[in-house]
Amino acid sequence: MHRITVIGGGFAGLTAAITAAEAGAKVTVHEAHHTLGGRARTADGPYRTNDGPHALYNGGPHWSWLRRHDLIGPLAPLPPLEAARLRLRHRGALRRTPPFAMLKLLRRGVGPAPVETDFLTWAAGVAGEEGARAAAHYSAVALFHHDPGSLSAAFVQERLRRAAKLPPEAHYPRGGWSTVVDRMAALAWNLGVRIETLSRVDTLPTDAPVIVATSLDAARRLLDDPALTWPSGRTALVDLAVRTRRGDAFAVSDLDAPGWIERFTAQDGTLAPAGEQLIQGQIPLAPDESKADGTARAEELLDLGFPGWRERLTWRREAVAHGRTGAVDLPGTTWRDRPAVDRGGGVYLAGDQVASPGLLSEVSFNSALTAVSLALGRHELDLKHA
Ligand SMILES: Cc1cc2nc3c(=O)[nH]c(=O)nc-3n(C[C@H](O)[C@H](O)[C@H](O)COP(=O)(O)OP(=O)(O)OC[C@H]3O[C@@H](n4cnc5c(N)ncnc54)[C@H](O)[C@@H]3O)c2cc1C
Repeated sequence: MHRITVIGGGFAGLTAAITAAEAGAKVTVHEAHHTLGGRARTADGPYRTNDGPHALYNGGPHWSWLRRHDLIGPLAPLPPLEAARLRLRHRGALRRTPPFAMLKLLRRGVGPAPVETDFLTWAAGVAGEEGARAAAHYSAVALFHHDPGSLSAAFVQERLRRAAKLPPEAHYPRGGWSTVVDRMAALAWNLGVRIETLSRVDTLPTDAPVIVATSLDAARRLLDDPALTWPSGRTALVDLAVRTRRGDAFAVSDLDAPGWIERFTAQDGTLAPAGEQLIQGQIPLAPDESKADGTARAEELLDLGFPGWRERLTWRREAVAHGRTGAVDLPGTTWRDRPAVDRGGGVYLAGDQVASPGLLSEVSFNSALTAVSLALGRHELDLKHA
């Protein structure tokens, strides 16, 4: 029987553990924190904020895998009336529909964008400068970068298309992502996976194979390999609760600069006490911008979409997520250029900044499957479980 050690009990580590155990391996997971889930944790309450992921995109490979394993649980559908309250800030004012020029980029006839060119240059050729900027800023909801226009056109186009798809790809596990994590952990236990929490690993175990399913920063330290780097975003996170007021926006997408604010109780009332609404915003920060700059931009969006929010405020929290929002690909690079899963000597990487395709947590999922199939020498696993 194969033995596999998984370091990290987030979405990647749990995916790897379940997949390896299903293939008959004896698996041990070491998680540094006292609970599982990593960035996919949800606060206990009364304001059930997600630390990281909110949306489960149903166009991704993880969706069908989670479904097949009965791990998604009940979803919180967005009522059509609330969906109609999506607002876009453009030229300083709120509007209901995207600028026409931006829509040009979403037409079927538009071919695949090039890898080598930056998105703004390519998109301006299709939709003009203003439409290109609006589209770049809209795509920030799925890439968390302060200047999406400067990234690879192919990379941004994929995210733009998926974020703008109708019906929307984004689905929301009722009660937050930790409900999915809890189900994954229960399945792992049932499959005989040994899970050790409060178990930080500082030295790589010598009895390979080992799957390092930490953030890339933590993997760099653990493997003592300075080559383990890849660009990511830096984003101000502004979470708040307000007393309910009819007519509040469901979400405000900033087309004048990257930024997104969403009222998550629109789809899931369990996330805040009765009579209150939970709003979470993410405002990507340029290298020279501070958290206060991000907060100020978030407040501009709140003023537009949630009138009187200051007087209705019941709770507030702010943070900055640095390098925690997944990989971004610069012009001339694709996911294939990121740090490889196979590090040699029976050590494999899984996580959202390594060489695997997909959007956000899908990269963690895909790399976890690849790591397991390489570790077990069973390449067909990818096909069987993806
Ligand atoms: C603000 C924000 C919003 C996001 N929104 C979305 C979204 O809407 N949809 C989406 O799909 N994705 C989203 N993401 C991305 C998603 O959160 C991540 O891609 C995913 O959670 C990463 O999972 P992971 O298991 O690869 O890494 P992590 O969640 O970071 O897990 C790594 C684990 O390893 C543990 N660890 C680290 N070092 C050690 C060590 N030495 N020993 C033992 N354990 C260790 C950590 O404690 C952690 O539990 C978002 C992220 C952020 C920050």
